[in-house]
Amino acid sequence: MIRLHDLYRRLKEKGYKRIALQAPEGLKRKLPTIASDLRSQGFDVIISGDPCYGACDLDLCARDNADVLVHIGHTPVDHTERVLYEPWKVDAALDVIHDVIPLLSGSKAGLVTTVQHAHLLPAAAQILHQAGIEAIIAEASPRTPLRGQVLGCSFDGARKTGEKEIIFLGTGLFHPIGIRLATSARVFACDPITREINEPDADRLLRIRFALIEKARKAESFGILVSEKTGQCRIETAEKLCSLSPRAYIVMIREVTPDQLLNLGFQCFVNTACPRLAYDDQTRFPVPVLTPAEFEILCGIREFEDYEIDEIL
Ligand code: SF4
Repeated sequence: MIRLHDLYRRLKEKGYKRIALQAPEGLKRKLPTIASDLRSQGFDVIISGDPCYGACDLDLCARDNADVLVHIGHTPVDHTERVLYEPWKVDAALDVIHDVIPLLSGSKAGLVTTVQHAHLLPAAAQILHQAGIEAIIAEASPRTPLRGQVLGCSFDGARKTGEKEIIFLGTGLFHPIGIRLATSARVFACDPITREINEPDADRLLRIRFALIEKARKAESFGILVSEKTGQCRIETAEKLCSLSPRAYIVMIREVTPDQLLNLGFQCFVNTACPRLAYDDQTRFPVPVLTPAEFEILCGIREFEDYEIDEIL
């Protein structure tokens, strides 16, 4: 859900008339309706049809064919000009917060979530407060401008709580595992939709990543992937990694797909684009795709005991 009247007001205040609309895959189907609403308010609208995975992936071509890009579903990760962000809020019951209370061992706990549930945190904190537990919600960070927000590429919102127990309100296990690795805290993944509570098993991920590093040692050449997307480009990181091996080459790329990697012919890639690619999509890739820290382990300048989850900081 977005506040269309608020969006109209912001667009009119700035004098924007021609609007480019962009949304991630899960929200794209809403765009014709939003475009129709905007047109009825006198705006001229074009729609970005390319894949979009986050606010790191702005369609600047669409923006440059309009006065402004309205990016729906996310908060900003950088300061790209002429972009308005409209997060998509998803309401949910908070029974799962009541359920997690008996599992907590202290009188304080960190409380984090993703962008779509960020507006629920004050109510979740109030439930905890009534049970005598102080919810610690971190202030905003550069990539996560909402209080208590985490992203798949930034767990600052969890780290900054400084707590030994952290409640993640949201779906899926990627963020909770990332929080666990980034903070060493005990993490309770509380799904407000299914009302399930899980404690993520980060050790399993570490075992898989260790095996992948060992497999990658046999590679004769390494492609260091650098994203062309606005909020994912880590060229300096890539250059440092490239200097670690005479067999490494920087590869500029927009969409990291199994076919693209197969065609490039490297026996191993190192991903400096969206960190989730290396973790979530490995089973689809034809060869190992390591994170920057994993490549450092392979090159002998980092110990596996010093493993770090990949983040864009
Ligand atoms: S880099 Fe990946 S995790 Fe970070 S905002 Fe973009 S899509 Fe999300």
